[in-house]
Amino acid sequence: MLSVVVPCYNEAEVLAHTHARLARTLDRLVGFEYEHIYVDDGSVDGTWQIVESLAEGSRTVRGVKLSRNFGHQAACLAGLRESAGDAVVVIDADLQDPPELIAEMVALWCEGWSVVSARRRSRAGESVFKRLSAFAYYRMLKALSEHDPALDTGDFRLLDREVVALLVELPEKDLYLRGAVSWFGLPETGVAYDRDPRLAGESKYDLRRMLGLARSGLLVGSAAPLRLPTYLGAAALVCGTAAAAVRRDPKLLVRPGAFAAQALALGAIGEYLHALYRQAQGRPHYVVEEHLGTALRPLPTKE
Ligand code: UDP
Ligand code: MG
Repeated sequence: MLSVVVPCYNEAEVLAHTHARLARTLDRLVGFEYEHIYVDDGSVDGTWQIVESLAEGSRTVRGVKLSRNFGHQAACLAGLRESAGDAVVVIDADLQDPPELIAEMVALWCEGWSVVSARRRSRAGESVFKRLSAFAYYRMLKALSEHDPALDTGDFRLLDREVVALLVELPEKDLYLRGAVSWFGLPETGVAYDRDPRLAGESKYDLRRMLGLARSGLLVGSAAPLRLPTYLGAAALVCGTAAAAVRRDPKLLVRPGAFAAQALALGAIGEYLHALYRQAQGRPHYVVEEHLGTALRPLPTKE
Protein backbone atom coordinates (compact mmCIF):
# COMPACT_ATOMS: atom_id res chain seq x y z
CA MET A 1 0.00 0.00 0.00
CA LEU A 2 1.12 3.51 -0.88
CA SER A 3 0.30 6.70 1.03
CA VAL A 4 0.55 10.12 -0.57
CA VAL A 5 0.92 13.02 1.85
CA VAL A 6 0.02 16.49 0.60
CA PRO A 7 0.69 19.48 2.89
CA CYS A 8 -1.67 22.33 1.99
CA TYR A 9 -1.61 25.94 3.07
CA ASN A 10 -4.20 28.08 1.28
CA GLU A 11 -4.28 25.87 -1.80
CA ALA A 12 -8.02 26.08 -2.56
CA GLU A 13 -7.33 27.24 -6.11
CA VAL A 14 -5.32 24.16 -7.04
CA LEU A 15 -6.40 21.33 -4.78
CA ALA A 16 -9.11 19.84 -7.00
CA HIS A 17 -6.75 19.76 -10.00
CA THR A 18 -3.98 18.28 -7.88
CA HIS A 19 -6.28 15.59 -6.59
CA ALA A 20 -7.48 14.68 -10.07
CA ARG A 21 -3.94 14.36 -11.42
CA LEU A 22 -2.77 12.39 -8.39
CA ALA A 23 -5.75 10.04 -8.60
CA ARG A 24 -5.11 9.43 -12.31
CA THR A 25 -1.49 8.51 -11.59
CA LEU A 26 -2.28 6.32 -8.61
CA ASP A 27 -5.08 4.51 -10.46
CA ARG A 28 -2.54 3.42 -13.06
CA LEU A 29 -0.26 1.80 -10.47
CA VAL A 30 -1.21 -1.83 -10.91
CA GLY A 31 -1.23 -3.98 -7.80
CA PHE A 32 -1.19 -1.17 -5.23
CA GLU A 33 -3.73 0.11 -2.82
CA TYR A 34 -3.32 3.76 -1.97
CA GLU A 35 -4.52 6.59 0.22
CA HIS A 36 -4.35 10.36 -0.20
CA ILE A 37 -3.68 12.29 3.00
CA TYR A 38 -4.36 16.01 2.73
CA VAL A 39 -2.98 17.98 5.65
CA ASP A 40 -4.53 21.42 5.99
CA ASP A 41 -1.91 23.57 7.68
CA GLY A 42 -4.26 26.24 9.03
CA SER A 43 -5.61 27.51 5.70
CA VAL A 44 -8.04 30.41 5.67
CA ASP A 45 -9.20 30.16 2.04
CA GLY A 46 -11.58 27.20 2.01
CA THR A 47 -8.92 24.52 1.49
CA TRP A 48 -10.48 22.38 4.21
CA GLN A 49 -13.94 22.51 2.57
CA ILE A 50 -12.34 21.11 -0.58
CA VAL A 51 -10.65 18.34 1.40
CA GLU A 52 -14.02 17.55 2.99
CA SER A 53 -15.70 17.33 -0.39
CA LEU A 54 -12.90 15.12 -1.76
CA ALA A 55 -13.18 12.81 1.24
CA GLU A 56 -16.96 12.54 1.02
CA GLY A 57 -17.84 9.10 -0.22
CA SER A 58 -14.20 8.33 -1.06
CA ARG A 59 -12.45 5.25 0.26
CA THR A 60 -8.99 6.63 -0.46
CA VAL A 61 -9.06 10.26 0.69
CA ARG A 62 -8.25 11.26 4.26
CA GLY A 63 -7.86 14.72 5.72
CA VAL A 64 -6.04 16.14 8.70
CA LYS A 65 -6.76 19.69 9.78
CA LEU A 66 -4.17 21.43 11.93
CA SER A 67 -5.54 24.02 14.35
CA ARG A 68 -3.43 26.82 12.84
CA ASN A 69 -0.49 27.33 10.51
CA PHE A 70 2.39 25.29 11.95
CA GLY A 71 4.55 25.34 8.84
CA HIS A 72 5.29 23.01 5.98
CA GLN A 73 7.64 20.67 7.89
CA ALA A 74 5.17 20.18 10.73
CA ALA A 75 2.39 19.54 8.21
CA CYS A 76 4.51 16.88 6.48
CA LEU A 77 5.22 15.24 9.84
CA ALA A 78 1.50 15.23 10.68
CA GLY A 79 0.83 13.47 7.36
CA LEU A 80 3.59 10.92 7.94
CA ARG A 81 2.16 10.15 11.38
CA GLU A 82 -1.28 9.51 9.87
CA SER A 83 -0.01 7.40 6.98
CA ALA A 84 -0.44 3.65 6.89
CA GLY A 85 1.33 2.79 3.62
CA ASP A 86 4.33 0.51 3.16
CA ALA A 87 5.78 3.47 1.32
CA VAL A 88 4.86 7.15 1.64
CA VAL A 89 5.28 9.88 -0.96
CA VAL A 90 5.33 13.50 0.20
CA ILE A 91 4.35 15.91 -2.56
CA ASP A 92 3.53 19.64 -2.78
CA ALA A 93 -0.07 20.66 -3.38
CA ASP A 94 0.65 23.15 -6.17
CA LEU A 95 1.61 20.68 -8.94
CA GLN A 96 5.17 21.98 -9.03
CA ASP A 97 6.10 18.37 -8.35
CA PRO A 98 4.65 16.27 -11.19
CA PRO A 99 2.56 13.41 -9.73
CA GLU A 100 3.42 11.24 -12.76
CA LEU A 101 6.93 10.84 -11.31
CA ILE A 102 5.46 8.73 -8.51
CA ALA A 103 5.28 5.72 -10.85
CA GLU A 104 9.06 5.92 -11.40
CA MET A 105 9.64 6.32 -7.67
CA VAL A 106 7.53 3.30 -6.85
CA ALA A 107 9.42 1.21 -9.42
CA LEU A 108 12.74 2.10 -7.74
CA TRP A 109 11.27 1.35 -4.31
CA CYS A 110 10.25 -2.09 -5.61
CA GLU A 111 13.90 -2.61 -6.60
CA GLY A 112 14.76 -2.20 -2.93
CA TRP A 113 15.63 1.48 -2.40
CA SER A 114 14.47 2.86 0.95
CA VAL A 115 14.42 6.49 -0.19
CA VAL A 116 13.73 7.81 -3.68
CA SER A 117 14.18 11.57 -3.81
CA ALA A 118 13.25 13.80 -6.70
CA ARG A 119 16.07 16.10 -7.76
CA ARG A 120 15.20 19.40 -9.42
CA ARG A 121 16.99 19.62 -12.74
CA SER A 122 15.42 22.98 -13.49
CA ARG A 123 12.93 25.28 -11.80
CA ALA A 124 10.52 27.02 -14.14
CA GLY A 125 8.49 30.01 -13.03
CA GLU A 126 10.61 30.76 -9.97
CA SER A 127 12.33 34.04 -9.27
CA VAL A 128 16.05 34.52 -9.89
CA PHE A 129 16.41 35.22 -6.16
CA LYS A 130 14.78 31.92 -5.22
CA ARG A 131 16.84 29.93 -7.69
CA LEU A 132 20.13 31.55 -6.70
CA SER A 133 19.50 31.34 -2.97
CA ALA A 134 18.42 27.70 -3.21
CA PHE A 135 21.47 26.83 -5.34
CA ALA A 136 23.87 28.49 -2.91
CA TYR A 137 22.12 27.24 0.22
CA TYR A 138 22.10 23.54 -0.70
CA ARG A 139 25.80 23.70 -1.57
CA MET A 140 26.71 25.50 1.64
CA LEU A 141 24.71 22.99 3.67
CA LYS A 142 26.45 20.09 1.94
CA ALA A 143 29.85 21.62 2.71
CA LEU A 144 29.01 22.23 6.38
CA SER A 145 26.94 19.13 7.15
CA GLU A 146 28.31 16.16 9.03
CA HIS A 147 26.55 13.80 6.63
CA ASP A 148 25.81 14.01 2.95
CA PRO A 149 22.53 15.75 2.11
CA ALA A 150 21.17 15.25 -1.41
CA LEU A 151 21.57 18.38 -3.54
CA ASP A 152 18.61 20.32 -4.97
CA THR A 153 15.91 18.16 -3.46
CA GLY A 154 12.94 19.39 -1.50
CA ASP A 155 10.59 17.11 0.35
CA PHE A 156 9.17 15.47 -2.79
CA ARG A 157 10.31 11.92 -2.18
CA LEU A 158 9.25 8.38 -1.50
CA LEU A 159 10.06 6.92 1.90
CA ASP A 160 9.91 3.29 2.85
CA ARG A 161 7.93 2.51 6.01
CA GLU A 162 11.17 1.87 7.96
CA VAL A 163 12.28 5.46 7.20
CA VAL A 164 8.88 6.87 8.14
CA ALA A 165 9.01 4.93 11.41
CA LEU A 166 12.39 6.48 12.23
CA LEU A 167 11.21 9.97 11.26
CA VAL A 168 8.05 10.01 13.35
CA GLU A 169 10.00 8.79 16.38
CA LEU A 170 12.49 11.68 16.30
CA PRO A 171 12.02 13.77 19.45
CA GLU A 172 13.72 16.88 17.99
CA LYS A 173 11.73 20.07 17.81
CA ASP A 174 13.59 21.71 14.93
CA LEU A 175 12.23 19.95 11.89
CA TYR A 176 14.29 19.53 8.77
CA LEU A 177 12.93 16.24 7.49
CA ARG A 178 15.09 15.92 4.38
CA GLY A 179 18.21 16.38 6.54
CA ALA A 180 17.07 13.70 8.97
CA VAL A 181 16.39 11.33 6.06
CA SER A 182 19.91 11.70 4.69
CA TRP A 183 21.30 11.43 8.23
CA PHE A 184 19.69 7.96 8.57
CA GLY A 185 21.89 6.94 5.66
CA LEU A 186 19.57 4.21 4.36
CA PRO A 187 19.87 3.32 0.66
CA GLU A 188 18.81 6.40 -1.28
CA THR A 189 18.50 7.02 -4.97
CA GLY A 190 16.99 9.81 -6.99
CA VAL A 191 15.06 10.69 -10.09
CA ALA A 192 15.66 13.98 -11.87
CA TYR A 193 12.80 16.20 -12.98
CA ASP A 194 12.03 19.64 -14.30
CA ARG A 195 10.05 21.60 -11.76
CA ASP A 196 6.93 23.14 -13.23
CA PRO A 197 5.62 26.57 -12.28
CA ARG A 198 2.90 26.71 -9.66
CA LEU A 199 -0.52 25.92 -11.19
CA ALA A 200 -2.14 28.89 -9.44
CA GLY A 201 -1.71 31.14 -6.45
CA GLU A 202 1.44 32.47 -4.85
CA SER A 203 4.35 30.70 -3.19
CA LYS A 204 3.55 30.14 0.48
CA TYR A 205 7.25 30.11 1.32
CA ASP A 206 7.88 33.79 1.96
CA LEU A 207 11.30 35.06 3.01
CA ARG A 208 10.57 34.47 6.69
CA ARG A 209 9.68 30.83 6.08
CA MET A 210 12.66 30.31 3.80
CA LEU A 211 15.03 31.72 6.43
CA GLY A 212 13.37 29.61 9.11
CA LEU A 213 13.87 26.43 7.07
CA ALA A 214 17.47 27.40 6.24
CA ARG A 215 18.15 27.97 9.94
CA SER A 216 16.69 24.58 10.89
CA GLY A 217 18.76 22.84 8.22
CA LEU A 218 21.98 24.37 9.52
CA LEU A 219 21.18 23.94 13.19
CA VAL A 220 20.14 20.32 12.87
CA GLY A 221 22.86 19.25 10.46
CA SER A 222 25.94 21.19 11.40
CA ALA A 223 28.06 22.41 14.31
CA ALA A 224 30.15 24.64 12.04
CA PRO A 225 28.84 28.02 13.31
CA LEU A 226 29.65 27.04 16.90
CA ARG A 227 33.13 25.92 15.89
CA LEU A 228 33.94 29.14 14.02
CA PRO A 229 35.58 30.86 17.05
CA THR A 230 37.86 27.85 17.58
CA TYR A 231 39.08 28.03 14.00
CA LEU A 232 39.53 31.81 14.15
CA GLY A 233 41.38 31.60 17.46
CA ALA A 234 43.70 28.87 16.21
CA ALA A 235 44.39 30.81 13.01
CA ALA A 236 45.20 33.98 15.00
CA LEU A 237 47.58 32.01 17.21
CA VAL A 238 49.41 30.47 14.27
CA CYS A 239 49.69 33.77 12.37
CA GLY A 240 50.79 35.71 15.48
CA THR A 241 53.43 33.12 16.38
CA ALA A 242 54.74 33.07 12.80
CA ALA A 243 54.93 36.87 12.65
CA ALA A 244 56.70 37.05 16.03
CA ALA A 245 59.21 34.39 14.96
CA VAL A 246 59.98 35.95 11.58
CA ARG A 247 60.41 39.47 12.97
CA ARG A 248 62.09 38.16 16.16
CA ASP A 249 59.70 40.33 18.17
CA PRO A 250 57.61 38.53 20.83
CA LYS A 251 55.44 41.64 21.27
CA LEU A 252 53.83 40.85 17.92
CA LEU A 253 52.15 37.87 19.58
CA VAL A 254 50.35 39.96 22.21
CA ARG A 255 47.32 41.14 20.25
CA PRO A 256 46.66 37.94 18.30
CA GLY A 257 47.29 36.01 21.53
CA ALA A 258 44.67 38.00 23.43
CA PHE A 259 42.19 37.55 20.57
CA ALA A 260 42.92 33.83 20.42
CA ALA A 261 42.36 33.40 24.15
CA GLN A 262 38.87 34.93 23.88
CA ALA A 263 37.97 33.12 20.69
CA LEU A 264 39.11 29.74 22.01
CA ALA A 265 37.15 30.27 25.21
CA LEU A 266 34.05 31.03 23.13
CA GLY A 267 34.76 27.95 21.02
CA ALA A 268 34.94 25.83 24.18
CA ILE A 269 31.51 27.12 25.23
CA GLY A 270 30.33 26.30 21.71
CA GLU A 271 31.47 22.69 22.09
CA TYR A 272 29.47 22.29 25.30
CA LEU A 273 26.45 23.94 23.70
CA HIS A 274 26.76 21.61 20.74
CA ALA A 275 27.04 18.57 22.98
CA LEU A 276 23.95 19.72 24.91
CA TYR A 277 22.08 20.35 21.66
CA ARG A 278 22.86 16.85 20.38
CA GLN A 279 21.75 15.39 23.71
CA ALA A 280 18.50 17.36 23.58
CA GLN A 281 17.97 16.50 19.91
CA GLY A 282 17.85 12.89 21.07
CA ARG A 283 18.61 11.08 17.82
CA PRO A 284 19.48 7.39 18.02
CA HIS A 285 23.18 6.53 18.19
CA TYR A 286 22.94 4.58 14.96
CA VAL A 287 20.55 3.14 12.43
CA VAL A 288 20.74 -0.55 11.46
CA GLU A 289 20.26 -1.28 7.80
CA GLU A 290 20.24 -5.06 7.93
CA HIS A 291 20.74 -7.99 10.31
CA LEU A 292 22.23 -11.27 9.20
CA GLY A 293 22.06 -14.58 11.05
CA THR A 294 20.27 -15.40 14.30
CA ALA A 295 21.59 -15.00 17.82
CA LEU A 296 22.14 -18.28 19.73
CA ARG A 297 20.37 -16.87 22.77
CA PRO A 298 17.35 -14.64 22.38
CA LEU A 299 18.46 -11.00 22.43
CA PRO A 300 17.17 -8.91 25.34
CA THR A 301 14.16 -6.92 24.24
CA LYS A 302 14.33 -3.14 24.14
CA GLU A 303 13.49 -1.54 27.49
N1 UDP B 1 2.90 24.76 2.88
C1 UDP B 1 2.38 24.40 4.12
N2 UDP B 1 2.53 25.25 5.18
C2 UDP B 1 3.19 26.45 5.07
C3 UDP B 1 3.74 26.79 3.81
C4 UDP B 1 3.59 25.92 2.73
O1 UDP B 1 1.78 23.33 4.26
O2 UDP B 1 3.28 27.17 6.06
C5 UDP B 1 2.73 23.84 1.73
C6 UDP B 1 2.15 24.45 0.48
O3 UDP B 1 0.74 24.44 0.49
C7 UDP B 1 2.74 23.57 -0.61
C8 UDP B 1 4.09 23.19 -0.05
O4 UDP B 1 4.02 23.41 1.34
O5 UDP B 1 1.98 22.38 -0.81
C9 UDP B 1 5.21 24.00 -0.67
O6 UDP B 1 4.91 25.38 -0.55
P1 UDP B 1 5.09 26.40 -1.75
O7 UDP B 1 4.67 25.77 -3.03
O8 UDP B 1 4.40 27.67 -1.41
O9 UDP B 1 6.66 26.64 -1.72
P2 UDP B 1 7.65 26.81 -2.97
O10 UDP B 1 7.33 25.73 -3.94
O11 UDP B 1 7.37 28.16 -3.51
O12 UDP B 1 9.02 26.68 -2.37
MG1 MG C 1 5.49 25.40 -4.73
